[in-house]
Amino acid sequence: MGLKVSLLAILVIFLAGSLLKNPREPLNNSLRALAFAICEADSAYLACIIDFLSDAVITRRGIYLYPAPLKIHASTFLHREPQMTDTPEVRAVSPHAVIIGTGFGGLCMAIQLKMAGIHSFTMLEKASNVGGTWRDNTYPGAACDVQSHLYSYSFEPKHDWTRKFGLQAEIRQYMEDCVEKYDLASHIQFNKDVVAANYDDTTHQWVIDTQDGAQLRSNILVTACGQLNRPAFPNIKGMEDFKGKVFHSARWDHDHNLDGESVAVIGTGASAIQFVPQITPRVKQLKLFQRSAAWVLPKADRLFAGWEQSSFKNMPLLDRIYRTMIYWKNESRALAFTRFNALLNVLALQAKYCAKRDIKDPVKRAKVIPDYKIGCKRILISNDWYKAINSDNLDVINDGIDHIEADAIVSKDGSRHAVDTIIYGTGFQATDFLSPINITGHNGVNLNDAWQDGAEAYKGITVSGFPNLFMLYGPNTNLAHNSIVFMIESQVRYVLSCLQALEASNSAAMNVLPDTQSEFVNGVQKRLEGSVWASGCTSWYTTASGKNPVNWPGFTFSYRLSTRKVNLNDYQFYPKPVNA
Ligand SMILES: Cc1cc2nc3c(=O)[nH]c(=O)nc-3n(C[C@H](O)[C@H](O)[C@H](O)COP(=O)(O)OP(=O)(O)OC[C@H]3O[C@@H](n4cnc5c(N)ncnc54)[C@H](O)[C@@H]3O)c2cc1C
Repeated sequence: MGLKVSLLAILVIFLAGSLLKNPREPLNNSLRALAFAICEADSAYLACIIDFLSDAVITRRGIYLYPAPLKIHASTFLHREPQMTDTPEVRAVSPHAVIIGTGFGGLCMAIQLKMAGIHSFTMLEKASNVGGTWRDNTYPGAACDVQSHLYSYSFEPKHDWTRKFGLQAEIRQYMEDCVEKYDLASHIQFNKDVVAANYDDTTHQWVIDTQDGAQLRSNILVTACGQLNRPAFPNIKGMEDFKGKVFHSARWDHDHNLDGESVAVIGTGASAIQFVPQITPRVKQLKLFQRSAAWVLPKADRLFAGWEQSSFKNMPLLDRIYRTMIYWKNESRALAFTRFNALLNVLALQAKYCAKRDIKDPVKRAKVIPDYKIGCKRILISNDWYKAINSDNLDVINDGIDHIEADAIVSKDGSRHAVDTIIYGTGFQATDFLSPINITGHNGVNLNDAWQDGAEAYKGITVSGFPNLFMLYGPNTNLAHNSIVFMIESQVRYVLSCLQALEASNSAAMNVLPDTQSEFVNGVQKRLEGSVWASGCTSWYTTASGKNPVNWPGFTFSYRLSTRKVNLNDYQFYPKPVNA
């Protein structure tokens, strides 16, 4: 009981601090978290907090507040660094891991393998550089919606972020710096587009094929391919007839000069919200084709002062506390998304207030106020979106597109909009997950067939019938309220725990039990039914059949807890082949 009171006291102090910092927020997020902490203060919830706070550790290297660096111990399941004394035979049978992708997920996995003393891994990347999302999305204004102190690895703090919400170039540089610091370059093979991965039941190895005809074998396969990696285009009649310039926001053509042009932007999602305000002052006319409006809230962004950067550098504990406070502030929002949807209405009022303040024309303003429940689609943050909408050279067209001609877009009301360039801000093929890779598992089962009703995985990481396949940022691990990097770190920790289990049991492979997976997935889907994402809008979170294979329906700390350590009873273990 005393412990419970202490924990609640800690929460109250955190939340009160946050409240004092932002007294003018309409209904402070912190209050919501506090309300939840009190009404949900049952033993299970407190057990979660205790376990979670146990990550606040004092080590020989320093004091780490939560989220603490991953604590993984060296494993010999994957071979130690090859030794000079190894015979060729030993080298040939050395277990090996392949990681697909070099975004935040792939790099995190690689670094943590190295930190655990495991060096026999290869990273395959289809592009010619690292960075994933932050390599591909170079559009003007590309930036993170999560504060950089949290949207970075817990084990690799960067004290001199230039602003609260990092810009694309700085995040990408951070990732490249990680590659250098952890000496990952020699592990990466670029321009290797993985097209197939087949599980060999005899050797318990994955056979991995790349588009250029190369083949690799590995004991462990980690996919870190991201969810927002393949640009999505709408299916509009006449698209291919357009003779002007066309590109997707995730493949921005920086050689093309938009100055003075008539430009059509199709889509008003997270990317468009960022680049439209940047290009509007440069173009002659901007035609914004909107299927449905986005809820847009102010972004509490600013540059860090030099003294703040040096304080973070000289007092690493301050940096950790700052990160921790950001985490809890963001985390409190999960309540509104998954439990107390009504709380989001306050935010809707705030968005409407900002629109009224910035957009003078009431007709235009009405067009950008959504007609669906706030939160059902991703809530966006921007300080210049409504100001851009207010520009005289920007038209919002929400009548729907009928077809595209050689030099124009024709909307459903028959209006013809002549344009020089079309920019697709239409997002990504998020719900397809690993579908471009032909993955076959135990007994030749194909992953696309197994996922006919939508992608699903145990803890978003393992799939029954696909032994030793581990997914990062897999099904139901996306967030609307906090940092994906935090989720990725949880998954990496879980993968390492699995490797330790394989080693301890001297097994070749592990396969999650089908019932375990079904029970988990059903639980997730049940919880999603009560979330705001199920309130009736069409969004990239859901498939055509209405299933949500994308989002995690709760707190990230509950996810962190559930992935702390593998439960051996959840898996079937396969013994090593006799001559391995
Ligand atoms: C514009 C944008 C803004 C975002 N903002 C935020 C934000 O504010 N906060 C947040 O938490 N998240 C945000 N995200 C989500 C973001 O994708 C994740 O936070 C994170 O970057 C995912 O990292 P990842 O490594 O899993 O995937 P990615 O960064 O997508 O990296 C996947 C890598 O795998 C490679 N790959 C894929 N398939 C293959 C293949 N078959 N063979 C070889 N290589 C392959 C890709 O080339 C890529 O390098 C944003 C995403 C986008 C697109």
